[in-house]
Amino acid sequence: MKEGIHPEFKECNVTCACGNSFKTLSDKDEMRVDICSECHPFFTGQQKFASRGGRVEKFKNKYSL
Ligand SMILES: [Zn+2]
Repeated sequence: MKEGIHPEFKECNVTCACGNSFKTLSDKDEMRVDICSECHPFFTGQQKFASRGGRVEKFKNKYSL
């Protein structure tokens, strides 16, 4: 395998918009997310489906996809 062309997975500090942070494995040092297991309606039991519209668009804009 050539050096430098494969992403190196390391511990990544993920910070959520809700203020929660946790670690995962990624090729990045840091990530920011809008929703995590602490604030996702599925886990919190809250019904916030009305606010889901545009989330994917927001995500795409954020990462220029
Ligand atoms: Zn969160």
